Amino acid sequence: METNIWIVDNIVDKQSIYPQVKEAAQLLKSGEVVAFPTETVYGLGANAKDAKAVEKIFAAKGRPSDNPLIVHIAHLKQLEEMVSAIPDVAHTLIKRFWPGPLTLVLPKKEGVISDPVTAGLPTVAVRMPAHPVALALIEASGLPLAAPSANISGRPSPTTAAHVFADLNGRIAGIVDGGETGIGVESTVLDCTTKVPTILRPGGVTKEALEKVIGNVFVDSALTDERQTPKSPGMKYTHYAPKSPMAIVQGSPAFLQTLVNKQRTLGKKVGVLTTEENRSFYDADVVLACGSRHDLHTVASHLYDTLRKFDETDVDFIYSESFPTEGIGEAIMNRLKKAAGHQVIDEK
Ligand code: AMP
Ligand code: MG
Repeated sequence: METNIWIVDNIVDKQSIYPQVKEAAQLLKSGEVVAFPTETVYGLGANAKDAKAVEKIFAAKGRPSDNPLIVHIAHLKQLEEMVSAIPDVAHTLIKRFWPGPLTLVLPKKEGVISDPVTAGLPTVAVRMPAHPVALALIEASGLPLAAPSANISGRPSPTTAAHVFADLNGRIAGIVDGGETGIGVESTVLDCTTKVPTILRPGGVTKEALEKVIGNVFVDSALTDERQTPKSPGMKYTHYAPKSPMAIVQGSPAFLQTLVNKQRTLGKKVGVLTTEENRSFYDADVVLACGSRHDLHTVASHLYDTLRKFDETDVDFIYSESFPTEGIGEAIMNRLKKAAGHQVIDEK
């Protein structure tokens, strides 16, 4: 299959992106899958009401069919159409955080969204993305778009159109290239069907920010205890991983360097994932800095690109520094731990 590429600039006005977006929307309407930028990562979209179209997403990504997709909408009317109830707490969150990187899990209305989207669950996960190209595409297609991240399953999520191209060229109908995404980690998934809303996946909207608006929020216990089964089916899979094995190091840069030295005496090529502050400290085969510790948002936005950059090197093993689990750091550490298959080395 030939993959069309439409280059749109996300800072130009809606009118000037319309012709390209319209072409992409046409393909979506005819049941094809198209990748598009959002403020978190690139999504791989298909008509959420068309089971055959949605199945193409699973096929292109190699995604397990028991991992449900997030439905992306541009209007609240679309939400009302697909859920059977919107609790007060969801209304409050929508007012404050939509459009934005917050996905709400709500009870689904039967017969609207196609079955493979929700993987047999009685709920549906919905969000309104805060990206002009994503919104324009949803509007032009007139459809709710089921869209997971536009990567091959298990690989780091794409934050540029080039990442999408590297994974999915020839496997999908098109890519709308709107430049680099901003936030860099996926949306927060919040279950609003429990008495106290529960975070199923940490992401772009922090727990602290949610609690400021709605008070107490729970975190799915499986996020801190690997032995439990997560309520968000996708969280049980290994994810976001570079090709070489990786371990997260909790300790000083000096301690991390001793681990590097040990591997190198065994003849291994070693990579280090660090930040601007510590870049020059390390002596390793490849040292990549991912943003600055002074602003963890810069780490989030460069995380997946940095993990992918290691794949262009010949390192046998990667050691990554760790980050404080506050604010966006919670999502960063969640993705890093998954990328490392939960291998954590503690100095103490
Ligand atoms: P991705 O599309 O790659 O960003 O992944 C979407 C995430 O949302 C996965 O972790 C899914 O398991 C989760 N998800 C989607 N729908 C639901 C749902 N109805 N209930 C719980 N989790 C969901
Ligand atoms: Mg994904």
